[in-house]
Amino acid sequence: MNVLEARGLGKRFGSVRAVEGFDLVVREGETCALLGPSGCGKTTALRLVAGLERPDEGLVRIRDRVVAGPGAWVPPEARRVGLVFQDWALFPHLDVRANVAFGLDGDRRGRVEELLELVHLDGLADRMPHELSGGQQQRVAVARALAPQPDLLLLDEPFSNLDAQLRAAVRTEIRELLRATGTTAVLVTHDREEALSVPDRVAVMLEGRVVQVGTPFEVYAAPADGRVARLLGEANLLPGRARGGRVRFALGEVEGSLPDGPCEVLVRPEALRATPDADGEARVDDVAFYGHDQLLRCAIDGATLEVRLAGPHPELGPGARVRIELVGPAVPLPARA
Ligand code: ATP
Repeated sequence: MNVLEARGLGKRFGSVRAVEGFDLVVREGETCALLGPSGCGKTTALRLVAGLERPDEGLVRIRDRVVAGPGAWVPPEARRVGLVFQDWALFPHLDVRANVAFGLDGDRRGRVEELLELVHLDGLADRMPHELSGGQQQRVAVARALAPQPDLLLLDEPFSNLDAQLRAAVRTEIRELLRATGTTAVLVTHDREEALSVPDRVAVMLEGRVVQVGTPFEVYAAPADGRVARLLGEANLLPGRARGGRVRFALGEVEGSLPDGPCEVLVRPEALRATPDADGEARVDDVAFYGHDQLLRCAIDGATLEVRLAGPHPELGPGARVRIELVGPAVPLPARA
């Protein structure tokens, strides 16, 4: 069963087309991330679904009800949609229990204790928002949005106010919470790690529309084109040439059903290996060390290749000569428009 169906949504602000031809379907119990660069229209799309904006074109259906579209308009408070924003917007003068209970009628108050337990805040029910850490405030905001049992939970960059370490922990908790409660959710983010690690599916958005939808694995491994590939992670995009179902490029030849002619080949940095070699054709120009791995930027024949190596490799500092080999997938992509 589809909980959300957006078809052909369009929204202009003056001369700016914020959203155009936006299609998205989210199934029951699924978390879908909406990933895209700044300004591509993610927040506007979410606001159209929530009813905080009216579309110029297209329709929004939540379960079996058209809530926005030609001749149809259901106001936000009647859409059964929960919202969690970047700033969490807790009521500062209400304690945790009252924040979560806000908007619930009297006979459902028992649900508050249950929710606080679910988000691991049961000991903190009497605290005021300013007495909570950022991560705890975040969980209160999610519990409050879930309290009325919405059909759909919309989260707009909910982790962006948290520092990197806390962010990873809260992200895991929220993912578990959404799964445990069977919540159907749309998570807006411009953070690729978040978009790959939290949801069941990712909808990649560019210039106002969704250009690809798939599981995190699918969109990472088989992006629709070079722009999508770059949004999802570091990407070497090498020039290639397709002919009769094969694609030739600098590192070899792969199968690829593209029309004959020029194309691109995606090689993720982890699909390459660099080995120290005094006669190697490449030179390490730069190293970014992340602890669990490192990203080398290597110069080869006037081009640059990024190579990701697991574990520390102090011998591969800037200036080292290396041999580069393809050890993972090379994915042919259509030529850049
Ligand atoms: P970010 O990741 O930076 O938040 P976004 O993908 O969420 O960006 P939107 O906030 O939806 O993008 O904005 C899409 C485009 O619409 C931008 O060019 C933005 O400047 C414009 N826009 C959004 N809201 C308004 C508004 N109320 N009035 C005028 N222009 C707007």
